[in-house]
Amino acid sequence: MGKLIDENGIRLDGRRWDEIRPITIEIGVIKNADGSAYIEFGKNKIIAAVYGPREAHPKHLALPDKAIVRCRYHMAPFSTEERKSPQPSRREIEISLVLRRAMESAIFLEEYPRSIIDVFVEVLQSDGGSRCASITAVSAALADSGISMRDLVVGCAVGKIDGQIVLDLSDYEDKEGEGDMPVAYMPNLDKIVLLQFDGIFSEEEFKKAIDLAILGNKKVYEILKKALIEKYFSMVDEK
Ligand code: ADP
Repeated sequence: MGKLIDENGIRLDGRRWDEIRPITIEIGVIKNADGSAYIEFGKNKIIAAVYGPREAHPKHLALPDKAIVRCRYHMAPFSTEERKSPQPSRREIEISLVLRRAMESAIFLEEYPRSIIDVFVEVLQSDGGSRCASITAVSAALADSGISMRDLVVGCAVGKIDGQIVLDLSDYEDKEGEGDMPVAYMPNLDKIVLLQFDGIFSEEEFKKAIDLAILGNKKVYEILKKALIEKYFSMVDEK
């Protein structure tokens, strides 16, 4: 019997090894943005807003053949148990970068030459796995903005707790566990666009973790797809 998984295979929050936390996604929550979304992923509460594509300012940033993407991931000072400094931390700079790179794999940048796409992520409440939840929210916001994409991008982490590979670590499991591997995925193209890793896995555990991450990502995708369909069908009904 471990301290994070009991003898019946149940984790501290009641989940089994292959279960994700409850997810709700709302599309179109920020009036002034070109696209936006709000996600609750377990106790994570995150808003993503997209502005653009619009003319790049300052102009020297512009590229003649494709759009550039700027991304800011930010955690509100009240989003964590202990007040987080409002200054951008190294972690926020890193997450902004990996989110941008993941989204650049999906967006048809060459359709928007000389323009800029700004992506803002505000974490209102965090509980582990916020970069994965943020990717899903950004993808929803980009879809809401109508920007052309090869595929949606979703995110879900896997990790190791009490020696077992499990899906979607909570903050506590992340801190007490032995490894965390956030994965973002394009489900229709079957491509991984982000993979980070903190911990030690054997080769066999790594293979199991990848399969499990893809399974988790497919579950997230079903929820995202449903949220997008609901939003756009309700718009058709209103007409
Ligand atoms: P992710 O949120 O993608 O899992 P990390 O593994 O870096 O990213 O962080 C895990 C969790 O640790 C976060 O979701 C958040 O709940 C918590 N955390 C991160 N930074 C801070 C901070 N500066 N103060 C308090 N808690 C934090």
